[in-house]
Amino acid sequence: MPDRYAVFGNPISHSKSPLIHAAFARQTGADLQYEALLAPLDGFAAAVDAFRASGGRGANVTVPFKLEAFRYANDLTERAQRAQAVNTLKFDGARVLGDNTDGVGLVRDITQNFGFAIAGKDVLLMGAGGAARGVLLPLLACQPASLTIANRTPQKAIDLAQHFAAVGAVRASDYAGLAGDRYDLIINATSSSLNDALPPLPPRLFVPGALAYDMMYGKGLTPFLAFAEANHAQTLADGLGMLVEQAAEAFYEWRGVRPETRPVIEMLRKS
Ligand code: NDP
Repeated sequence: MPDRYAVFGNPISHSKSPLIHAAFARQTGADLQYEALLAPLDGFAAAVDAFRASGGRGANVTVPFKLEAFRYANDLTERAQRAQAVNTLKFDGARVLGDNTDGVGLVRDITQNFGFAIAGKDVLLMGAGGAARGVLLPLLACQPASLTIANRTPQKAIDLAQHFAAVGAVRASDYAGLAGDRYDLIINATSSSLNDALPPLPPRLFVPGALAYDMMYGKGLTPFLAFAEANHAQTLADGLGMLVEQAAEAFYEWRGVRPETRPVIEMLRKS
């Protein structure tokens, strides 16, 4: 019997995770089965219970269940604890380890795939939802010169900055307050691109050589990336690499083997 893994979400049919993990399994010679499972909006815990009872070894968790997965786990990694959200579960008897691999996925994509060093750079993180929360600890661990969180609802950015104040220097702002600032790296962790919208960014935010990163993927040139291009950002990136890198970290957590991500990113780009 192959080892069983799954991704839980609602909706879930769009998920690329089964493709990604099947590619990792082929590459590493792992005998596993990975499926996308739709959990009812009010039935996440029961769906995971049933999966574990049928032999499930681990799971990824996506929208809207990352908070519920955080509560479901009975042991947490530090990054999951800080993020207060879980996207990876590992089952070992009664122990359920919850991890959050989104942040390390983002950082690996930026530093390894794009060859962009975060250390010593001025970084702007747009958004204060689950995705922003998940990436703050790994971003701060890279020791940027500064990290600013900007959000449409400013109080949420203030709360997030306070929550991470013990980890590193992080400040909060509204969008108007960014006027006159300059950044080496701007990350869009809002869901604005989903609706073809753009947060109200002032012009001239990018320094020469800057990287603009939109966590959204599969949408081509999003309004944020078009804004970045028009404002002379040097490199434009979407979130496909982050998606594959967070999956690779989950795979490593489950199997103890680190798959190669570059061929999988290329395969997804072609498809
Ligand atoms: P949440 O719903 O938790 O948060 C949404 C955030 O976007 C909030 O900060 C909200 O601001 C802001 N926002 C929404 N619309 C606008 C707008 N029009 N203008 C300005 N701000 C806006 O979502 P998540 O944090 O879970 O996800 C955010 C994005 O990240 C999604 O697009 C998701 O697909 C992507 N993502 C990508 C991953 C990857 O692997 N590539 C992994 C995880 C997420 P406010 O607080 O004011 O409502």
